[in-house]
Amino acid sequence: MEQTRDTYGRVIDYLRISVTDFCNLRCVYCMPHQGVKPTDSRNLLTNHEIVRVSRVAARLGVVKVRITGGEPLTRHNLPSLIEALSGIEGIIDISLTTNGIFLKKHARSLARAGLKRVNVSLDSLQPERYAKITREGRIHDVLEGIFESEEARLLPIKINMVPMKGINDDEIEDFALLTLNSQFHVRFIEFMPIGARDLWRSDRHISSDEIKERVSKIGRLVPVKVRKSGPARYFRFEGAPGVIGFISPVTHHFCDSCYRLRLTCDGKIRPCLFSETEIDLRSALRSGSPDEEIERLLRLAVQVKPEKHSIHSGDCFDNLKPMSKIGG
Ligand code: SAM
Repeated sequence: MEQTRDTYGRVIDYLRISVTDFCNLRCVYCMPHQGVKPTDSRNLLTNHEIVRVSRVAARLGVVKVRITGGEPLTRHNLPSLIEALSGIEGIIDISLTTNGIFLKKHARSLARAGLKRVNVSLDSLQPERYAKITREGRIHDVLEGIFESEEARLLPIKINMVPMKGINDDEIEDFALLTLNSQFHVRFIEFMPIGARDLWRSDRHISSDEIKERVSKIGRLVPVKVRKSGPARYFRFEGAPGVIGFISPVTHHFCDSCYRLRLTCDGKIRPCLFSETEIDLRSALRSGSPDEEIERLLRLAVQVKPEKHSIHSGDCFDNLKPMSKIGG
């Protein structure tokens, strides 16, 4: 199979597909209080269009697909999309990033459709605080969703937590301790200065180094080798079944191991989360263009993928769309 390298030699083999920019939650660090106006449904790519782009991407060497959003489980026909994606030659791994609220209902049908794994965003283990951070979520739903995902063998379950000083950073240790008695991969993601105008302050950001230092005080961290671990650096407490990951988009950018392209729900290819450069595929898809044109546009996106981003933990990058609009 073909491999497609970008200008800096990275083999691009990973496509993150946003299937909606609507979210049932309003996490304080992700969205403003009033939410973000969702894209008109006529402008959302259909399942057929997403599958077509993915098929062309697979011909160029994409082997891994992640479904995200907004909240992907609010898209009503997700299992049939997953089933169609899992039938594409070359795609060997399909995963999902979700807030987990609707996971209990969907985990089994998604697994049957070909989903391999889930990442669940969970920023507090305390019910009241969880409700406050998400502005309306019930942690009980998420925990049931995680349980159902385990039953459906959507493994390993990765739990993504964004520590923010004064908001939930006192729970870093509690999250790390989850790995002592479970096979969860608990991943700490640095708070990024995008989408969170209401909340962002540089002193709320905590670097991965600081998070790791705090976690190491609980017990010795042993490095874990994970093939193509992407942005995360993985460790475990000696002898523990679970894994702890540190993802530092802000303080140690992981651009040299960024092998991904993003497909936004309205049909744009975005080569880098932190650059507003987008290439419009929807017009090509809807104007009868042949696959060769889709391929040309995908190759163009690979070609213009920047070497690295330049965000830092200073001011909030207001000019960048929030994660929910791009596909986190
Ligand atoms: N709704 C799904 C979910 O909750 O996982 C997928 C979309 S959400 C935008 C994807 C990820 O983006 C979540 O893990 C969330 O924590 C992360 N995220 C959003 N805004 C962020 C920010 N400012 N800093 C760090 N992570 C952020």
